Amino acid sequence: MKNTRMNKRGSGKKSRNTATFPSLVLGSLLIGLCIFLPACASSEASKALGVPGEASSGKKALSQHYEVYAEGVDADDTARMLECFFQYATEFFGRSPTGKMRVNVFASRERYVQGLVRDGFPDPGGFYGQLQANMVVYLLLQRTPDVTREVILHEAVHQFYALAVPKKPGVVLPWWFSEGMSDYMAKRDWDGTRLREREVQLIALEEEPQFTRDWLMGPNMDLPAMVSGSKPFPSPGHWAMARFLAERYPDRFRDMRKLVEDGMKMEESWGLIMGGSPDEWVGEFMAYVRSQVQPWWVVSHAWRQKEGAIEAVADSAAILARQDKPDEMRVVISTGESKGSVGVIFDYSSPDDFSMIQFLPDGRMQIVSRKSGGKNRILVEPVRIGDQPRHRVHLIQGGGKVRVRVDGGVLGVYDTQGRFGLYAEGCKAKFNVSP
Ligand SMILES: [Zn+2]
Repeated sequence: MKNTRMNKRGSGKKSRNTATFPSLVLGSLLIGLCIFLPACASSEASKALGVPGEASSGKKALSQHYEVYAEGVDADDTARMLECFFQYATEFFGRSPTGKMRVNVFASRERYVQGLVRDGFPDPGGFYGQLQANMVVYLLLQRTPDVTREVILHEAVHQFYALAVPKKPGVVLPWWFSEGMSDYMAKRDWDGTRLREREVQLIALEEEPQFTRDWLMGPNMDLPAMVSGSKPFPSPGHWAMARFLAERYPDRFRDMRKLVEDGMKMEESWGLIMGGSPDEWVGEFMAYVRSQVQPWWVVSHAWRQKEGAIEAVADSAAILARQDKPDEMRVVISTGESKGSVGVIFDYSSPDDFSMIQFLPDGRMQIVSRKSGGKNRILVEPVRIGDQPRHRVHLIQGGGKVRVRVDGGVLGVYDTQGRFGLYAEGCKAKFNVSP
């Protein structure tokens, strides 16, 4: 098969890949199912390797099962991550491919196209990562290292599955099945030695739980059509369905997978293994999706969960907004060495309309209310509080008012509709938030 496009996220769809798009991202709370594999095979020393005919700009790393070519990310680190993924995928699918698998990461779209053309494939249009007919993964660097890793893993799942479980003639897999498995297995954190399912999925690509829930409750809801693949449904649904089955019914999911791989239609295998029509599962599926909704909306792509804290790496203004409206929120902000602007948001209603206590890089603090049209209304003139590496903010709200405390002192009482958030701009900062 020529030009097998395994990834649908492309130019023809609503772009959720741009850094400026205020995606309302909701992750999912995952506990357990960690993969602790400190002994994953290490890769051989990397060496420079260019795309033939081009200036050398990337590195190649060889590991037990992978041959990685990487520009803009560490080839050795990527190979180590893929070896950990290999062990996880072998356990998940119950088998594994033989031979080395090739994964190519290119620093720019231009380099990505050059790499594909070099191997005899056409320009893939807007695709950002794909598995080609030669079973080699090609992908572009994404807006953040976390998203790049997620895309590498997403494509690596397709590659692993296609090689470990070759598709039999005439077998058509529903879109949710292949994309959902890839999305589900790719949403993992890599710390250099271990690949673990995320405790809280903050970073981009997914506004799944809320989006899926809203869609399920809408007029297009048709679970039987989703399962059989007879109607398209939104990509967050792929992930939600695969995850629901993998987490709640791993044995049945595996059995269903085997029947489908052997040529049975998905809806038949569902009836046989899950029991009943998919319609009878709507209630449980929706309850599951609802239970995954996160307290945070990632308004801008700069946030990640790290060791119990929330970390921002923000070149430009980045917002993380809460969905719930708690009575209070305590935040300790650590900026470390980085000099940028950080803040705690209250009365958030949109990226253009919120109030915040902002700590400026020159050691001053101010309270700003931003209104749409880019105009800033200053509520409290900036005051010098000194160049502190830490700031403590305590917000208490009720009855349409919020009391703002900074480092123990009351700053003021302001109107609010109840939504809190975090802010970072031009810096790396860590936020410890409670509750
Ligand atoms: Zn895909």
